[in-house]
Amino acid sequence: MNKRPIDIVKERLDTVPVNVGAILRALDVDVRKDAELGEDISGEIRRDGERYIVSTSGDEHAFRQRFTLAHELGHFVLHKSLIGTGLDDSKMYRSTEAGDFYNTAIKLAHERQANSFAAKVLMPKPLLKQKIEEMSEGDSKPHISELCDLFQVSYSAMKWRLVNLGWAHKVEGIV
Ligand SMILES: [Zn+2]
Repeated sequence: MNKRPIDIVKERLDTVPVNVGAILRALDVDVRKDAELGEDISGEIRRDGERYIVSTSGDEHAFRQRFTLAHELGHFVLHKSLIGTGLDDSKMYRSTEAGDFYNTAIKLAHERQANSFAAKVLMPKPLLKQKIEEMSEGDSKPHISELCDLFQVSYSAMKWRLVNLGWAHKVEGIV
């Protein structure tokens, strides 16, 4: 029996940093980091026959490209039937006419789902909990920048995740 894509994702969320490129490849999706995309484009997913290809902009920081990969993974897992020939994500992670595609089937609600999916993939709750506990001692808490380095995500992505989990008080350095 074929495994569901979401199960293939979940099997690969137990090591830090999560290897999102390997997850995509396990789903038979090709990955192109450091791609030359349009000016306002952070990432895209396109269909080529039976295959899908995810690209991220080489103009952006490695941590940001990881988030974009995970966002496109979210579209692939959650919205595959809406991808059609492809979709572009702007720097705000919105379907945009600035790139090769203008996919109007992808709405703001889908973008929010993909962002939430990306955060959960890159910062899995059990792993994040474990690392915060390991890095805490008495009154001493980990600094958010240490968690960003460990999980290879931006400050804003980590802050958003911690706030959403109700864990902002467990770390130092959140402003
Ligand atoms: Zn998107």
